[in-house]
Amino acid sequence: EAALADYGKEDKVLVSIRIRPTNAVSAWQIADTTPKSIKLDPQYCKTSTTTPQDFRFDEILTGSENKPVYNAVARSHVCAAMDGFNAVIFAYGQTASGKTFTLSGDEDQPGIIPRAMKDVFACIRRTPSREYLLRCSYLEIYNETIHDLLAPPSSSVSQPVQIQGTGNNVILTPLREEVVTSLKAVREVLHRGEGNRRTASTDWNERSSRSHSVFRVVIESRERGSGADEGTVPSGRTTPGFRPPTPGGPRLQARGGRSVQTSVLSLIDLAGSEKATSDKERTREGKYINTSLLTLGSVIGTLADNAARNKHDHVPFRNSKLTRMLQPSLAGNARISVICTINPDAGATAETTSTLLFAQRIK
Ligand code: ADP
Ligand code: MG
Repeated sequence: EAALADYGKEDKVLVSIRIRPTNAVSAWQIADTTPKSIKLDPQYCKTSTTTPQDFRFDEILTGSENKPVYNAVARSHVCAAMDGFNAVIFAYGQTASGKTFTLSGDEDQPGIIPRAMKDVFACIRRTPSREYLLRCSYLEIYNETIHDLLAPPSSSVSQPVQIQGTGNNVILTPLREEVVTSLKAVREVLHRGEGNRRTASTDWNERSSRSHSVFRVVIESRERGSGADEGTVPSGRTTPGFRPPTPGGPRLQARGGRSVQTSVLSLIDLAGSEKATSDKERTREGKYINTSLLTLGSVIGTLADNAARNKHDHVPFRNSKLTRMLQPSLAGNARISVICTINPDAGATAETTSTLLFAQRIK
C-alpha cells in the first residue's frame, strides 16, 4: 500500500493550478500546458510585456475528476497531519473558478474535504497501536470578523470568535469543537455549518464569494498502553482504534509517559480573488478581502522563501485574521498546499493572469 508519501522531502509549499473545463464558446486564453507549466496565449494577454507569460508550478490539473486532484495535491498533506505535522490546504481563485468544487465537490465527485476525512479514518483503523481523538471546527471569516459556523446563528452573530494568545500560541474563543468518531458525524458537522452559513447571510452568493471558510480538524493521538483507563469505552460508539472523549473534557491525557501528539489539518475555501469591478463592490468587504488575500500571499511567500534560503525574514501573520489564526499551523514544520483555480475562458483573462501571478509569487 502506498501509505505515507515522502512529504518530508518536498518543498514547504506545494503550488498547483487547476483549470476548470470551459463552458464558453469564446476561445481559450491558454496556448499550451505541460504537466508543470502554463503558457498564456499572447492574443489574450493584455498585461504588460514585463509580465511573464510562461508559468511553472508543481502540478497543473485539468478535468472534472476530483480523485486525481486529491491524490496529487492533498493526500500527502493529510498523511503528514496524521503523523503529527500541521497541514493547511487552500483553494484560491476568482469566483466560479472551482474552489468549492475542488474542496467540497458534490455527490458524484467528492472533493478534498470528504476524501481527506475518509483517509483520516482509514489511517486510524490501520494504526491500532495508537488511539486518536478528532475535534472538528468550522469557521467563516467575513469582514475581518470570525464566525463560528457550528454555533447557533444568533449566537455567532452576537459573539464573534476572538483570537487570543501570542506568537505560535493561538487561542480561538469561544469556539465549538465537535468530537467526531465517524465519517457520518463529519458530514453532519459540515452540513450544520453550511446551514448556519446560509442562514446568517442575507445574500448567499455575495457572502460566500466574499468570505473565507475554514474547516479544521485537531488530531490528537498517543500510544495505546495497558493502563487502567483502557477498555472502559462502551463498544458501539467507537471507531476501531478510536477513543471517545473522557468525561473530564475532550482531550487525550498523557498517562504513563505516553506523550500526546497534536496536529491541526486546516482546509480553506478562500474568498473570491477578483478585483472589485463596480463602486458598489468597492465596499468595506472588498477592501478587507484584498487585504487578507494580499497578506496571505506575503505570508506564504515569505515562509517559502525563508525555508528555501534558510532566512528569518519577518512574516506578517498579524496583518489579517486569517493568517494570525493560522500562524501555529503555517509556521514551523507545517505542510502547505495552495490550489489556484482558474477559468480558461477568454473573458476571464485579467483574473486568470492575476491568479497565476499570485501563484508564482508564493512558489
Ligand atoms: P467557486 O467556489 O470558485 O466560486 P465553484 O466551485 O462553485 O466555484 O464552481 C462554479 C461552478 O463550476 C459549479 O457549478 C461547479 O460545479 C463547476 N465546476 C467548477 N470546477 C469544475 C470542474 N473542474 N469540473 C466540473 N465542474 C466544475
Ligand atoms: Mg465557492
